[in-house]
Amino acid sequence: MFYLALFLFLLALVFFWQSNRQRKDAGLPGGRVIYTDTRGWGKVEKPLFYPALELTGKPDYLIQQNGQIIPVEVKSGHTPDAPYDSHIYQLAAYCLLVEKTYRKRPSYGIIHYENRDFAVEYTHELEESLLDLLADMKRDEHKNDVPRSHEQAARCAKCGFRKVCDQRL
Ligand code: SF4
Repeated sequence: MFYLALFLFLLALVFFWQSNRQRKDAGLPGGRVIYTDTRGWGKVEKPLFYPALELTGKPDYLIQQNGQIIPVEVKSGHTPDAPYDSHIYQLAAYCLLVEKTYRKRPSYGIIHYENRDFAVEYTHELEESLLDLLADMKRDEHKNDVPRSHEQAARCAKCGFRKVCDQRL
């Protein structure tokens, strides 16, 4: 439960930083639109956990396909033209957890928006980028003062930390 809370907190930080964060030099894979048959999607019962990074998370679904296990993350609301960076990082974290848990590296994961599905390649560059991000977040985790990194009032309006945040817009 602690690790789940930690992971959710880390994800919240990803959302914080997403707007101003430059994409890493290698760039994030943009994701390609695919068709998926949801009948093959299996619900995940328990969170996956990788102790070395203290990383845990529960993909919405796992698909067994051609000897691979593919994580699926379902997002409600607006369907973007391309997946958001924060969603790509979340999916990358699930790909890492699948690899560490099942000893099989998924070549991609799926982000399912209401009107479109994207396959996002789980490249070594994306993995590196994720590990860098997690290291950055761990470094800042115990800082008392991490300044707001965006100027988006709409983001603040929906933020769960709004009541306690002294930097809300
Ligand atoms: S309310 Fe605070 S924590 Fe939430 S998005 Fe705004 S600045 Fe960030």
